[in-house]
Amino acid sequence: MKSKKSIFSIAFILAVGAFVCYLVICLTEAGREYKATFFSMDTVMEITAYGKNAKSAISAATERISEIEKEMSVNDEGSDTYRINHSGGETVFVSEDTLLVLDKAITVSQMSDGALDITVFPVVQKWGFTTGNYGIPEKEEITSLLKSVDYKKIRIDESGAVITEEGMQVDFGALAKGSAADEAAKVLRENGVKSALLNLGGNICVVGTKPDGTDWNIAVKNPLSDGEYAGVLSISDKCAVTSGSYERFFEGADGEHYHHIIDPHTGYPADSDFVSVTVVCEEGLYADALSTALFVAGYERAADIWRTANDFEFVGILKDGSVVYTEGLKECFYTELFAICVEK
Ligand code: FAD
Ligand code: MG
Repeated sequence: MKSKKSIFSIAFILAVGAFVCYLVICLTEAGREYKATFFSMDTVMEITAYGKNAKSAISAATERISEIEKEMSVNDEGSDTYRINHSGGETVFVSEDTLLVLDKAITVSQMSDGALDITVFPVVQKWGFTTGNYGIPEKEEITSLLKSVDYKKIRIDESGAVITEEGMQVDFGALAKGSAADEAAKVLRENGVKSALLNLGGNICVVGTKPDGTDWNIAVKNPLSDGEYAGVLSISDKCAVTSGSYERFFEGADGEHYHHIIDPHTGYPADSDFVSVTVVCEEGLYADALSTALFVAGYERAADIWRTANDFEFVGILKDGSVVYTEGLKECFYTELFAICVEK
């Protein structure tokens, strides 16, 4: 018969063993990586999240992105965008998601003196960027289409209903991916995720830090040097959103490069000195709207918008290959290229 002492020793060893197993399972679960890659808003999206709830949290985040896509897609007949564009000037009630995006679009249009203007959609369409049926429009066609381009004519009444002028058409392509990233990150956090990386077609948002507690390293592409990086941003709980002339474009019969970011004042692809602009701030929606606006505005005006707003940072790659970055990124942007720090 075993003595009381040896029974106690065995029980003690078993208890310690169970506790160690529990700790190992907890640590493994906390560091466990889940990843989902899917196609939405005409782009490849990827969410990587860590922790025991990560798998179900990613499913919920993906569903939220689909919901936003349905609300804002230009072509979907039931979408808010479609109803605004076919309202014939009548009042349209839209979802809170759409209202949020619309409101931010108007704010950034005001900040950038119309460099961002969601009513430029008919011009974007005419160039073929929505269909892939590219072509250089006649000057008269552009002049005629520009008559209905003016974000100042969008009205949101006190009940949150939207009123546009007859013939006006909007598109949230310049900023809705940013909003989708914010909402997906929110869902991940609500589901207990403390560490995640969301890449919605170049719109990057990070939740917390990496599981080891260090910042995420986000590469900034160098469009002038295939496959190479212009630098790296070290960030946590932030978004880094890039707009550039190098991803959606066509070459005209005249050999010119025509890209998809249109200057709403001219109706032509923006003649910017940037090849890309990456905006860094906490809100993906704001970063997405600004990245398009700053690209159109060009370096000097972008720096002025940054000084006035004082609530975001940016990295720009200029056509001459140099890099510019704002003061607030001094401690978290690393580059080996010739770089100028923009100061207040
Ligand atoms: P950004 O710089 O963020 O935005 C550029 C886009 O904004 C342009 O492509 C144009 O659409 C618009 N734009 C251009 N100039 C301006 C300006 N000055 N002010 C305001 N807006 C401007 N693409 C498809 O081909 N098929 C689809 O079915 C489709 N569905 C989509 C559904 C949703 C909900 C969203 C958000 C996007 C969808 N897209 C689709 C992609 C979209 O049309 C753009 O190509 C994409 O959002 C460009 O994003 P970006 O980050 O490359 O550029
Ligand atoms: Mg944008």
